[in-house]
Amino acid sequence: PKQAYVRTKPHLNIGTMGHVDHGKTTLTAAITKVLADRGTGTFVPFDRIDRAPEEAARGITITISHVEYETETRHYAHVDMPGHADYVKNMITGAAQIDGAILVVSAVDGIMPQTAEHVLLARQVGVRHIVVAINKADAGDDELTDLVELEVRELLSAHGFAGDTLPVVRVSGLRALEGDPRWAASVEALLDAVDTHVPVPERYTDAPFLLSVENVLTITGRGTVVTGAVERGVVRPGDRVELHGEGAERAASVVTGLETFGKPMESAQAGDNVALLLRGVQRDQVRRGDIVAAPGSVTPHRRFTARVYVVPAAEGGRHTPVATGYRPQFYIRTADVVGDVDLGPGGIALPGDTADIAVELGRALPLEPGLGFAIREGGRTVGAGTVTALG
Ligand code: GDP
Ligand code: MG
Repeated sequence: PKQAYVRTKPHLNIGTMGHVDHGKTTLTAAITKVLADRGTGTFVPFDRIDRAPEEAARGITITISHVEYETETRHYAHVDMPGHADYVKNMITGAAQIDGAILVVSAVDGIMPQTAEHVLLARQVGVRHIVVAINKADAGDDELTDLVELEVRELLSAHGFAGDTLPVVRVSGLRALEGDPRWAASVEALLDAVDTHVPVPERYTDAPFLLSVENVLTITGRGTVVTGAVERGVVRPGDRVELHGEGAERAASVVTGLETFGKPMESAQAGDNVALLLRGVQRDQVRRGDIVAAPGSVTPHRRFTARVYVVPAAEGGRHTPVATGYRPQFYIRTADVVGDVDLGPGGIALPGDTADIAVELGRALPLEPGLGFAIREGGRTVGAGTVTALG
């Protein structure tokens, strides 16, 4: 028999954010170094993180590095991005849904424009938990660093975070990476702060099950299999599910098999990549973009409002403004649907703007506030957005 998948620790998604050159990538490498020295991880050098391959997440190209590590109590997937535009796109579409963030601020430079912008974005997209790393503490003087800490706490409070009480840890990613024991300890202290301050998100298991279909396969003699990442909830063999597709309004089925990377699972939860064997579903009844969900847990909608970032030409987007009547493709979860854009009478959004728009999709999809998506036109990504309300 195949070996079953065993889950030993809760899994969380976190990421570094902050102004360019404040040391996000160095700190990311240092975290893997410190944990590798402790024996619970694999060292990932700076160059491997900084030369991340481009990723197409929901049709938007983002350069994003993932590293993976374990502390005593948790398993983390950690994302680091090279440029400011990558942060904006990634955070708006929620391409790498993070449960918490490490805000990296240089002790030498203090708050800079992208520091403030990332804090604002974090608030807008619902990142609730932030731990601050005042980096380059080896190079900053103590009194100045005290001021930087005060300034960061104020900035966070001004944006609705618990600025007075959240952990602020002084670190040196560079010295820790070089193996200096004092600064390695500072990175350990930062990880302890993340372990204690960022809670295991409840959505992992409490929400009703939902999976957006990425691929459909037929296994001869067994039936139709759909694959994809579990967006929320838990699913087990024997569970009743509902299929929301383009063809059938809604079809009832039962999960008769469940695997991850070829290993059978007793249960899968949010964040897991799985294959589901669905009873009584024909190959032509289901396609990429369909939703498999707990019965009665989702309602398809055609109209919604959204906040979108209009990608400028310099980032591969549009040269010209967007106005009412614009009709691009919307990439929502794994679906690809045409939609009519309404910016109100006379409303336009210039490339580089963030705008509020109303959308009517060509067909109904399960939607909810907070859901990220990309807007594409002629093979280019021209927008990144988040659903703000259902119409
Ligand atoms: P990022 O753009 O935020 O990812 O920043 P990097 O990690 O690429 O670092 C930018 C520069 O700051 C590099 O030259 C690093 O060597 C330097 N740097 C990073 N961390 C530290 C630190 O803890 N102390 C000092 N003195 N320099 C650092
Ligand atoms: Mg970097």
